[in-house]
Amino acid sequence: MPTFRAPRGTRDLLPAERAAFTKLESIGRDLGRRYGYRQIETPLFEQVAVFERGIGEVTDVIEKELFRLAARSDEGEAWALRPEATAGIARAYVQHGMHTWPQPVKVWLTGPMFRYDRPQAGRYRQFWQWDVEAIGDPGPAVDAELIELGARFYREAGLDDALLLINSIGDAVCRPAYVAELKAYFREHIAGMPEVERRRLESNPLRLLDSKDPALAVLQARAPRITDRLCPACAEHFAAVLGHLDALGVGYRVEPALVRGLDYYTRTAFEFYRAGAEGQQQALGGGGRYDGLIELLGGRPTPGIGFALGLDRVILALGDSASQEEGASPLAVIVGAEPAATAERLRVATDLRGEGLVVRADLSARKLGRQLESAARDGAHFAVILGDELAAGQVQLKDLQAGTQRPLPLADVARELRRADASHHHG
Ligand code: AMP
Repeated sequence: MPTFRAPRGTRDLLPAERAAFTKLESIGRDLGRRYGYRQIETPLFEQVAVFERGIGEVTDVIEKELFRLAARSDEGEAWALRPEATAGIARAYVQHGMHTWPQPVKVWLTGPMFRYDRPQAGRYRQFWQWDVEAIGDPGPAVDAELIELGARFYREAGLDDALLLINSIGDAVCRPAYVAELKAYFREHIAGMPEVERRRLESNPLRLLDSKDPALAVLQARAPRITDRLCPACAEHFAAVLGHLDALGVGYRVEPALVRGLDYYTRTAFEFYRAGAEGQQQALGGGGRYDGLIELLGGRPTPGIGFALGLDRVILALGDSASQEEGASPLAVIVGAEPAATAERLRVATDLRGEGLVVRADLSARKLGRQLESAARDGAHFAVILGDELAAGQVQLKDLQAGTQRPLPLADVARELRRADASHHHG
């Protein structure tokens, strides 16, 4: 056993896995560009109150999963690592007066999120999200645009079976009456409910609907459905979102029990699952409309919608097909007949790198034969061999793939390598 290990619920992304993440990040970057979203970065930690207000104090994310940072007495502020991106972005929207920008403000962010959760496969304490937000437009076309963007991400990542579940959870007009009805319903059946769920009944009854506790399954199936109790404005919005999705050819399933865990959501709520794995805890991503959030954080009333996609879960779902080249083989390795002459190999490599070429210097004190074997194992196309004739400005250029070798002025090596590289890529 090693003395030190990565903290529970975290893991190292070794180069092969990091390359798979980088591939997903570049899909996100490219989609952001094509869809008119601009990249934003917010701190990895915020004042606790940003999350408490922006997410809701009676949620698992805040009650149980928030990574709180010990406050330093001299500053007296309580901070926490971000469990998601939306609250921080909404805080930034208010802080920087983004309501004066052209609306909606469309941004994306990628980076690690932190939740003090019980670790298991696909559930980590540090995980990565690609997050997109469109703030300042009440929709419903914006809802559909953002959802279609999410669906496209999975397809471009190679996951063809991502299934979209969608619901409307109403707004301040229709939800209170529904929540009261839901409370009354569960209260009638409280005898059959586990203790934790009884507490939820008072604090956050909507959560009873997406609880995964099997003891609730039958009650959930018979519970009143928000989908049938939307006020006219919410019903119209929901129908319009579905209409737009139909028009865009985005498949979905309306899921009346889908409520999402975070308090700030209004109207549109959605999640993506792998087909056949819906209803389990491992969503590939999810999001929704949060028309109350900006105001909760001190801004003027401003509608918004966002979506967060779990990169770790996409990688897991892709399995072996997620693996990427860990980085290209060097075009050339600089080797030498004099094992101890590492300084000249390093200098030649450095000059070629300065010319933009991908080269490795063999800095070992191995014999030339060993250096050449290692260069071939690396998948290098060429070896540049430094020998006695270097004093006269000459080297040997060995084509490791063709097995040929010829002398060349050192001054011509960069041009020669560049030409070979170009014909290799384009020829
Ligand atoms: P949420 O805000 O909980 O809906 O999270 C959005 C997405 O982030 C989820 O659908 C998952 O794909 C991913 N996610 C959330 N929590 C975790 C976690 N603990 N580990 C890995 N991925 C997560």
